[in-house]
Amino acid sequence: MIPTLIAAARKIVFKFGSNTLADKDGKINALFLGEFAEQAAALIRGGKQIVIVSSGAQVAGLSTMEKWARKRDLHYRQALCAVGQVELMDAWRRAFEKHGIHIAQILLTRDDFGDQIRTLNMRNTLFTLVDEGIVPVINENDTVSVEEIKIGENDTLAAQSAILWSADLLILFSDIDGLYDKNPKEHPNAELVSEVRDLEETRKNISIGETNSFGTGGIATKLDAAQRVLSYGIPMILAHGGRPRALEALAAGTQRGTAFLVE
Ligand code: GLU
Repeated sequence: MIPTLIAAARKIVFKFGSNTLADKDGKINALFLGEFAEQAAALIRGGKQIVIVSSGAQVAGLSTMEKWARKRDLHYRQALCAVGQVELMDAWRRAFEKHGIHIAQILLTRDDFGDQIRTLNMRNTLFTLVDEGIVPVINENDTVSVEEIKIGENDTLAAQSAILWSADLLILFSDIDGLYDKNPKEHPNAELVSEVRDLEETRKNISIGETNSFGTGGIATKLDAAQRVLSYGIPMILAHGGRPRALEALAAGTQRGTAFLVE
């Protein structure tokens, strides 16, 4: 099912979590970004359009400003994201530059999605960039989004972006292979659910575990993201981004993942 979904989609939104983009030391993994850019460039040459939703500003900020690691103050955390966002975009720019592809940064807040004029502007800008062969890289504008007005995690932001751009498919690249019936980090016998057709039924049948270390999401926000996009007729794939050449492997059917299908 996953190869068919990818083959059929012309407009794909890819979301990368912090755990997927950073190596064990919390540094942005340039090799990983390079490998993805190479696979994405091939898709683009084949006529597909892509938008990236990228986390990692905070983790990149931390690895740049190590002396701030213990600071919990909100303004330091926002300052960290401001520093890290530059590192993150620099890494994405270098990755795509090798393929002659420009990238563009779009930083959004929750308010932006609630305002019709802003939404229209965002949509038009996205269309313009993509039509010009540029790859937009979206993140939350962490510097202005204090807790009360934060979207808070990028699974939701990715779903909102997919809807805004009228994407054909959303692919969430995470550090798990897909949706399991139990938390695989706690239960070795957990089984991967390869297809979800009835999300409500699935929610009843699985048990949701803890969130991971760098990221802010977890399986609950991924299911919410699926619910959002499915209600607009957009299918979603949840897969491990860190597997070798994950995008190509998913497209070829040699890597497993979970396909959330429109009923
Ligand atoms: N916007 C946050 C960052 O770039 C990530 C939010 C998330 O982990 O989903 O660090």
